[in-house]
Amino acid sequence: MRLIVGKGAINGIRREISRISPFSVAVVTERKVADLHLEKLMEHIGNAQCIVLEPGEKMKSLETAEIIWRWLFEIGATRRTLIIAFGGGTVIDIAGFVASTYMRGMFLANVPTTLLAQADAAVGGKNGVDYIGKNMIGTFYDPKFVLVDTSFLDSLGEDEMRSGMAEIVKHAIIGDEKLFEMLENGGFSIEEAVKRSLFVKLRIVKRDPREEKGLRSMLNLGHTVGHALEFLSNYSISHGIAVSIGIAVSCKLGEMLHGFDGRERVEALLVKMGLPIRLKADPDDVIRVARRDKKAVNGRIVMVVPRKIGRVVVEEVDEEILRKALEEMTS
Ligand code: NAD
Repeated sequence: MRLIVGKGAINGIRREISRISPFSVAVVTERKVADLHLEKLMEHIGNAQCIVLEPGEKMKSLETAEIIWRWLFEIGATRRTLIIAFGGGTVIDIAGFVASTYMRGMFLANVPTTLLAQADAAVGGKNGVDYIGKNMIGTFYDPKFVLVDTSFLDSLGEDEMRSGMAEIVKHAIIGDEKLFEMLENGGFSIEEAVKRSLFVKLRIVKRDPREEKGLRSMLNLGHTVGHALEFLSNYSISHGIAVSIGIAVSCKLGEMLHGFDGRERVEALLVKMGLPIRLKADPDDVIRVARRDKKAVNGRIVMVVPRKIGRVVVEEVDEEILRKALEEMTS
């Protein structure tokens, strides 16, 4: 997989496409992204067919996958057609799923347009649709290239920027102390932060591409409590906000279990990014939902806990200790 990151990187997309030499090009995108940026993409690609979906998580469904499969048949796509996923994490997920299943797999390239997708979702090879639960049906499938042009972020709303920043802070705590310091000091370019964030993820994914060794779970820092909070709010709070609180709780646990001494720095950084660090939910409710987290083993809660900035462990957490941490983090 080739990774290209930079402001204006889109100018080089034609070169990346010609390296693959596809039979044809099919762009999968959604309405909001299409209104804002499709013209620019098309100028650079030249000849391509497009399908424009409705924006939002609801579009990540088997019904939409079927619509795209059917469309691909209609436009005569083959295994040598290149699908370009152009949008946020939702488009990346569904387009990747379709690309990996249509005729048992066609060429795929990701051109992410949200910070969350640029710093996280666009790499790692996971895709999927929501079916009964979130991301229940999907495959592992790598794109030929991921092209990250940060100029697409100019049109992104503040909430979406904050959500993406939460994932970048997450990656810094997991595996890049220097990135953490850069974020703290403030003198960083978004390109550098995105690149370093992607490298943390790629380093871990390379060692455990199919999540078979448990290493990939490290990337879930803040997500056990985060997912529980999203669920308990009936998805009325954003993913980034939930993850930020989840990270703060994990840091509290790190302090209690391993003497982690970076909690205040993490909290200060999250607050500086405009992210919350205190929860409003009932700790017992959070624990009840956390028992069903995908990392849980027979209902025992397994979480990602920082030991120092740049290093985390995945471990079973005693419910009493988690309850205490949650109580202390409740506002
Ligand atoms: P999203 O794709 O819904 O985008 C968020 C919002 O931003 C949407 O309203 C979209 O229309 C808008 N948008 C996109 N690009 C824009 C731009 N340049 N300017 C203005 N608005 C723009 O959501 P997301 O936050 O990017 O991603 C969340 C999804 O990603 C979830 O479905 C999650 O499961 C998935 N995800 C996947 C992975 C993975 O590894 N595959 C990792 C993390 C998250």
